[in-house]
Amino acid sequence: MKNDEVMNIAKKRGFLWSSFELYSGVAGFFDYGPLGAILKNNIMNKWREYYVIREGFFEIESPTIMPEEALKASGHVDHFTDPMTECKDCMEVFRADHIIKEAMGSDVEGLENEELSKLLSNENICCPQCGGYLTHVWSYNLMFQTVIGAKGKKTGYLRPETAQGIFIPFKRLLRFYRGKLPFGVVQMGKAYRNEISPRQGVIRLREFTQAEAEIFVNPLDKSHPKFCEVADDILHLYSAERQSNGEHMVKMSAVDALESGTISSEMLTYQLCLAGRFLNDLGIPKDVIRFRQHLSSEMAHYAIDCWDVEVETDRYGWVEIIGIADRSDYDLKSHSQYSNEDLKVFIEYSESKVVRKLVAKPLMSKFGPLFKADAPKILEALKDSDASQIAHALKDNGKYELEVMGSIYQLTPDLLELQEVDETLRGVKIYPHVIEPSYGIDRIFYAVLLHCYCKEDDKVLLRLPADIAPVDVNVCPLVNKDDQVKIAFEIRDQLRNDNIVAEYDSSGTIGRRYARSDEIGVPFVVTVDHDTLDDDKVTIRNRDDSNQIRIPISDVYQVIKDLIILKISFKDLESEFLQS
Ligand SMILES: [Zn+2]
Repeated sequence: MKNDEVMNIAKKRGFLWSSFELYSGVAGFFDYGPLGAILKNNIMNKWREYYVIREGFFEIESPTIMPEEALKASGHVDHFTDPMTECKDCMEVFRADHIIKEAMGSDVEGLENEELSKLLSNENICCPQCGGYLTHVWSYNLMFQTVIGAKGKKTGYLRPETAQGIFIPFKRLLRFYRGKLPFGVVQMGKAYRNEISPRQGVIRLREFTQAEAEIFVNPLDKSHPKFCEVADDILHLYSAERQSNGEHMVKMSAVDALESGTISSEMLTYQLCLAGRFLNDLGIPKDVIRFRQHLSSEMAHYAIDCWDVEVETDRYGWVEIIGIADRSDYDLKSHSQYSNEDLKVFIEYSESKVVRKLVAKPLMSKFGPLFKADAPKILEALKDSDASQIAHALKDNGKYELEVMGSIYQLTPDLLELQEVDETLRGVKIYPHVIEPSYGIDRIFYAVLLHCYCKEDDKVLLRLPADIAPVDVNVCPLVNKDDQVKIAFEIRDQLRNDNIVAEYDSSGTIGRRYARSDEIGVPFVVTVDHDTLDDDKVTIRNRDDSNQIRIPISDVYQVIKDLIILKISFKDLESEFLQS
């Protein structure tokens, strides 16, 4: 299986391995080794290129520990749960939906605990480990709990996602963007989920890295100014409707997907295209990527439209690596309600509007003597009351009951004058909607290794794009002779001075060194040979086709630089130097 070969190389060559191996390991944690850490950083920097630089969404960094209040407001304290069941014999715990899916082959996402419990007993599903009976299903919260402060009185949690760190300082971010929609903010970093029994390697981690963008938009305008740039992108779409009908996915252009209503808005369609392009840039081919829409049963109740970007794998089937959702106004509204802060945005009309409005004007001559010291707070509350409701109450009941800080005051018709006035409105205050592309960096990392890996005869190649490969270039003397070694070291050091990740390798035959280099995805090898001493030229070997060209040492630095930022291709170089 390709997965096993890739994971084997990942372990052996320093990309990725299970953490805490010395102490027999803990499921759901992985170390990024020397090459893995650079590759992961390169993927994250590519993401920054896309979202921070090209889209203009600034990046922030918020704490990974969060107080309970914030996660209560976001819904995580009450709803961030998975259905759990326990074996009565061996006491092992399992995700109920996963073991039902394994036993029955059908997806049971979205079912209530009661229904899952019924399935377990009706279908005679037992402990996968020992065959023992399983308990009733209950909701298990996935957050890692901790305490804040020495006295431990304040409950905290490791953040379950990076997104909340963007919603909470929304007012400051809105001010930073001068109060204007749309704007986007991104955050990359660690997030934590105490998964019940993670058994899917790097696919299901308890500590993982997310890259999330929160794009705040006017609910009435979900267009995207750069949509025309992606309109012809072809997407493999698997809509909810086609999934329900048991049909296959279809290839569709972005503009067709939008116009047919398959994807709900231009902004969301643009985000799908961006995700597709990003994955292509990482070396993941289009034919293993699909966009799967959430079924209504798996979509959060507040969401308008959600798509998972999935990558095909031989070990785990289609795996979600990015989620892209239109979350409506849920997050800001909820934080507004819990914090009592106004998180609305003022949207100015292009032309101010005059509206006729009913107002309830208090008659001060009667108000003051009647309510005395309470009058000011009643007047204040009256301002926020709906005049048409007051009018109805006065007409139907002869009085209007106004509640002010727990006390009820009776307002009778003789205290109020109802009149219609013209009001000029410059704009309206609304909660912005949020479009959220959420990337799982670890899963993307895995997908990159899996799909860049290829085996030709007995040769293993990791076809990482040159701009994300962990090592840019290997410098080798053809044979281990002092004069060649000296030049090779000089070239390596000069490349390093130019901010290029260059390694030196002189052990074994040149063939073995090429093979080692290919296996970890080094795109280019520079070789110093005995002719170099006479002509001051070296060869550059291209990983993907083993082609070589010979160029002057003085050109090597600029050429390698241009190759690894993809400014030129090896083909360009071949035609240039073969002609000269
Ligand atoms: Zn058991």
